[in-house]
Amino acid sequence: MALNRLVAGNWKMHGLSSDLGEIKKIARESRQYPEVEVALCLPASLIERAARAVPGFPIGAQDVHQAEDGACTGCISAPMLRDAGASLVIVGHSERREAQCESNAEVRAKAEAALSYGLGVILCVGESAEIRDAGQAVETVAAQLDLSLPPQVDDPARLAIAYEPIWAIGTGKVPTPAEIEDMHAALRQRLDVAYGEAGGSVRILYGGSVKPSNASEIFAVPHVDGALVGGASLRAADLIPIVAAAAAVEGAPIIA
Ligand code: PEP
Repeated sequence: MALNRLVAGNWKMHGLSSDLGEIKKIARESRQYPEVEVALCLPASLIERAARAVPGFPIGAQDVHQAEDGACTGCISAPMLRDAGASLVIVGHSERREAQCESNAEVRAKAEAALSYGLGVILCVGESAEIRDAGQAVETVAAQLDLSLPPQVDDPARLAIAYEPIWAIGTGKVPTPAEIEDMHAALRQRLDVAYGEAGGSVRILYGGSVKPSNASEIFAVPHVDGALVGGASLRAADLIPIVAAAAAVEGAPIIA
């Protein structure tokens, strides 16, 4: 099965009904690049309207609760996301790991719940600046991945890992290509250990200050199978050039 590069937008806490036109524009212009899978992970309040506005275009969420239902005020379950029209969800974003004190075990439970309800999952891992400066980035993030991964996956193409150095998110700072390659190679090796041959179908995205100006260089790095894009995903004028850069990488699709 051919597996294309994935470019997913994380809109974070941005987006009102007045932005549905921009979502339609992103969906429409993405169709020029069928060799790239493009998705938008939106605030929960916009998911259903966006899914109706752009049928067939993947709309996702930014978090999910691990339980199916229950006394969890303010939370949304995987069947609820499916019901609203979502087809994927981000779990373990560093902004949630930090502000909501989400543990690796919780992130793993969320990923398992989402996968069991047929959602695609983008599972985020990444190190702080202190860990990077201490020279412990690779072992720290590899351990984080080991503890956050669902123990088994029926359809590995529905799981993607996003390596997002915390210090690169929204800062304009980006690791060097060699640093990204080292990290992605280590994560690829952990996926092989966890899932055997199937681990090769789990895509590894890079996230953190991806922009039109640096996307080509990032997509050219070995083991980079796509990107999770924050700020530059809010406007078609920024996101579509990133999608175009993913389409232009030699060797796409990544698994023929
Ligand atoms: C993110 O928060 O997932 C992200 C990658 O943000 P940005 O692209 O704005 O750094």
